[in-house]
Amino acid sequence: MELRFYNSMTRRVEAFETLAPGKVGMYTCGPTVYNFAHIGNFRAYLFEDFLRRTLEFAGYEVRQVMNLTDVDDKTIRGSQQAGKALKDYTAPYIAAFFEDLKALNVEPAAVYPAATDHIPEMKALIQALFDKGIAYKSEDGSVYFSVDKFPDYGKLAHLDRSALRSGVRIDADEYDKEGVGDFALWKGWDEKDGDVAWDAPWGRGRPGWHLECSAMSMKYLGESFDLHTGGVDNLFPHHENEIAQAEAVTGKPFVRTWMHCAHLRVNGQKMSKSLGNFFTLRDLQAQGWAGREIRYVLLNAHYRQPLNFTFEALSAARAALARVDECVDALAARAEQAAADTGARVASQLDAFAAALADDLNAPEAFAALFAFVRAANAALNAGLPPAGAAAALDELRRMDRALGFVFFGRAAQEAVPAEIQALADARARARAQKAWAESDRLRDELAAKGWQVRDGKDGQTLKPLAK
Ligand code: AMP
Ligand code: ZN
Repeated sequence: MELRFYNSMTRRVEAFETLAPGKVGMYTCGPTVYNFAHIGNFRAYLFEDFLRRTLEFAGYEVRQVMNLTDVDDKTIRGSQQAGKALKDYTAPYIAAFFEDLKALNVEPAAVYPAATDHIPEMKALIQALFDKGIAYKSEDGSVYFSVDKFPDYGKLAHLDRSALRSGVRIDADEYDKEGVGDFALWKGWDEKDGDVAWDAPWGRGRPGWHLECSAMSMKYLGESFDLHTGGVDNLFPHHENEIAQAEAVTGKPFVRTWMHCAHLRVNGQKMSKSLGNFFTLRDLQAQGWAGREIRYVLLNAHYRQPLNFTFEALSAARAALARVDECVDALAARAEQAAADTGARVASQLDAFAAALADDLNAPEAFAALFAFVRAANAALNAGLPPAGAAAALDELRRMDRALGFVFFGRAAQEAVPAEIQALADARARARAQKAWAESDRLRDELAAKGWQVRDGKDGQTLKPLAK
């Protein structure tokens, strides 16, 4: 399966190639943990999850690294307002972020390095830039990267370098720079930062945001790696600066393929904290929407196309997933029947599905292949599909779900356990823990009388509605 992706560096859809055959090193810019992430952020994380699952579907072994930005202006300001130490302030947001990823069925990265745990690596990178004559210190104690000294600057954003000299200020809050395009590697200590500061040979302060990603990506993936992703707003200046910091030091190409997703919008505007037009995942869950439904909506568009968030789309996702669930339930019921194999099978859509993924992650086409398969399966079931054919169809859905992650995840039948049933099951679990077997059996019968089957597995008990 040859994958073709749009590479922001070359601005072309090209064959995806890796440094080592069959392996992908992938870096993903992660959240700034000063608040709950909003679903615009999750559009980016879900695009990255879909990309990673597609690579795995295609047989690659992926090592993904996602950073946690736990020191910057926003986290410092937030911790001061809350009267907490920086780490105490960010810890609950980090925990919430992981919960949200789980609710959306995002596969965990191999490492989630936090910026504050990697200050020595960042200082080493700054020292190397000083040694090369590329870093310089300004009057206010900050350290800047001199863009003039790195001739490749601007290659990702396809910048006209002369514009950098003629007064385009990139970070408006940075002064004392020699060049207008220069960016901070280190921010000299300022009263506003309180006790959030580290000592360094060039003076007390804290690292710049761009620096953490160069330092941590190279630490966990090597000086050159395969794939780097983010939302389009990360492309410039953040990713441009990451390249400059890394390549100026190593002299090696930093990353081969750069991929960026378009924004999630609300009424035509980017969903963002500063515009106040955002929903967190928790806001939507509180309104009764499931992570699975939100995952479906955020994936159901090409990643390079802006996506407008609407509640109609969530309702449509609910209806579409109900159709998938019905088909899966019917296939599962048929697969358990004892009947002769007539040899009939559901016509496969796997080739079309794989071709859609390989074509720059064409999610709408991949979804179309899934629904074509569901329709064909329903027709085949009506025409007497034998149990072996139903089992084969379930296998195909499982294979598609390797990339999609919503077909078997969080199915309604598993989620919608009524409170009364759950209470009986919990009582049974307690009875078993106390080896009260008679009580446990009585509760099992009571659950069965109410239409629920309880099964004991290694992860505890699971509940399933009994077939009517
Ligand atoms: P931040 O916490 O602002 O650094 O953003 C974290 C990630 O979310 C980055 O990859 C951003 O590019 C991405 N992002 C922020 N807003 C949106 C949006 N409205 N749509 C898609 N991605 C976004
Ligand atoms: Zn980054």
